[in-house]
Amino acid sequence: MDAGNKTKRGKRKPQRKADYMTSSVTVQTTSKGRGVFASRSFSPDELVLTAQGARSPNRHPHSLQIGADEHLFVDPPVRYLNHSCDPNLGVRTNAQGTIDFVAMRSIAAGEELCFDYAMTEMSLHEVETQAERTSCDCGTENCRGEIGQYATLPEDVKARYKGYLAAHLLEEPGRT
Ligand SMILES: [Zn+2]
Repeated sequence: MDAGNKTKRGKRKPQRKADYMTSSVTVQTTSKGRGVFASRSFSPDELVLTAQGARSPNRHPHSLQIGADEHLFVDPPVRYLNHSCDPNLGVRTNAQGTIDFVAMRSIAAGEELCFDYAMTEMSLHEVETQAERTSCDCGTENCRGEIGQYATLPEDVKARYKGYLAAHLLEEPGRT
């Protein structure tokens, strides 16, 4: 990576300025676009981020589904969380009815933070025309090749994500 890019004091110089930074996360622009990176390490099940934003009845490329007909147009930094088919973040519906992102495993400082969009989205058909949202190049061994949705998630993946899925996905479907 940027090994060798050090000052005399041994302090590593960032190659790019961060777009956003807190003690927990940093938003950085990479060759694949913006992403969110851990500023420190996290333990399994530790709260990493909470989604905030405006509620809307419509899905949007930068929204998270929080109910059968309710979406959250999320503010940064959550807006820049990328999808992975082998995520290090899982989701939990919180007391406010929005989404908490928790570590699914130990996360090291500097790792990119990702979740599986199928953890919140029942269906992505409204945004299917937007190819960048549906074709996946996360490059992990588990890659499904497309950014899936909960409705079509294989059963073994649903089992792997147990405890890390938005509550509305698990409710008895009325008819949506
Ligand atoms: Zn993938």
